[in-house]
Amino acid sequence: MIDVIVIGAGASGLISSIYAAKNNKKVLLIEKNKDCGKKLLITGNGRCNYYNENQNIKYYHSNDYDFLPFIIKKQYLEEVKSFFEKIGIVPKIKDGYYYPYSNQATSIQTALIKEAKISGVDILLGEEVVKIEKKETFKVYTENHIFESKNIILATGSKAYPKTGSNGFGYDILKEFGHTIHPVLPALVSLKADTPYLKEWHGIRSDVKLALFENDKKIGEDVGEVQLTNYGISGICTFNLSGKVSLGLYQHKKEHININFLYPFSLENEEDFIIWMNKRNNKIQKRTISDLLDGILNYKLVNLMLKLSGIKNETYWDDLSEKLKKCLGRYLTSFHILIVGTNDFDASQTCTGGVSLKEIKQNMESKIIEGLYVTGELLDIYGDCGGYNLTIAWITGMIAGGSIK
Ligand SMILES: Cc1cc2nc3c(=O)[nH]c(=O)nc-3n(C[C@H](O)[C@H](O)[C@H](O)COP(=O)(O)OP(=O)(O)OC[C@H]3O[C@@H](n4cnc5c(N)ncnc54)[C@H](O)[C@@H]3O)c2cc1C
Repeated sequence: MIDVIVIGAGASGLISSIYAAKNNKKVLLIEKNKDCGKKLLITGNGRCNYYNENQNIKYYHSNDYDFLPFIIKKQYLEEVKSFFEKIGIVPKIKDGYYYPYSNQATSIQTALIKEAKISGVDILLGEEVVKIEKKETFKVYTENHIFESKNIILATGSKAYPKTGSNGFGYDILKEFGHTIHPVLPALVSLKADTPYLKEWHGIRSDVKLALFENDKKIGEDVGEVQLTNYGISGICTFNLSGKVSLGLYQHKKEHININFLYPFSLENEEDFIIWMNKRNNKIQKRTISDLLDGILNYKLVNLMLKLSGIKNETYWDDLSEKLKKCLGRYLTSFHILIVGTNDFDASQTCTGGVSLKEIKQNMESKIIEGLYVTGELLDIYGDCGGYNLTIAWITGMIAGGSIK
């Protein structure tokens, strides 16, 4: 009989099948796509950011934070790095972000498939699992076959980017087996804003600090390049706040974001702005307000901020009232936008929520169903952008595969 059937040959399914096979288990890996690791190919814009040197629990999110130190620990993080080196991946490390030296996600995909085959994993492609039953053993039904195994590793991914195969199937199975699923919502995704300026700011990119407020209480911040779009805001700093936004909106809370466009100059508020502009105005004389701001900020943004403040572009700084200076400073250091939604699963890189970690043992086995292991995005953990989500997939896959009895 098969020792373990791994369902889903994405990141966590591939690595867990390798670890199980190396643990002398007879492994069958079933994938509904025609090839393994379809999602891997689009990660990191086709380059696959598979790990990050800067590790800290604060980059990971869950409803059960107490569980995270069992996974995000030095021993496993080191193992991820050495595993990829052992299967032939030479890392290209940029600011702590790991990519394969080839700059191609296919390198990671093919290295994993090769290692799975060498380790003796049987891979069945193009077969969708439609039902799983548990009596003494597990019975796994695909469209064409019924397989029996002592253990199952469920690695079918979340609902993010369903084009790649992850359509939430695993959550249904886990619910049938009696597990609690925390609400599954898009995360690492762009945000929709309710502001009348969308048309005017569309296409602007700016280095900013974003502060996220929930019911007017600050609950997060991030820095980086924001992309202002015709529906709201995007970019990595936006993505990193989006999971909290998704959850807040789901709970009918009010979400708003303040954008500080002058964060790179350490200006926190309108008072800082006025002091800074006074200096700038003294240094660069005979320039209009528009001249003083152009060269720092995108001209479309300058025009919009001046229009909103009721200031003509050709006005001189010295001629502005304190009130107008403050008003402009407020717009530039704390631009308020109401968030009304997120983009959908189709465009999200991961999901909030998933199976409650309270019901999962430290070896990734279900506390409810003996022999059922859960890995990757099905678990109620997600990470920030930067290789953290794949890190979860690798580590949970390694633990599950290595733990099969
Ligand atoms: C655009 C994009 C970019 C990303 N970039 C990065 C990045 O650079 N770095 C990073 O760390 N993370 C990145 N991520 C996130 C990362 O890809 C995921 O966190 C990771 O792939 C999750 O692995 P998984 O094994 O849980 O699921 P998946 O990789 O989604 O694999 C699940 C597999 O299960 C299969 N499956 C589902 N149902 C069935 C069924 N019933 N029968 C058989 N097979 C089934 C699916 O076809 C799929 O192949 C990105 C995600 C996206 C969408």
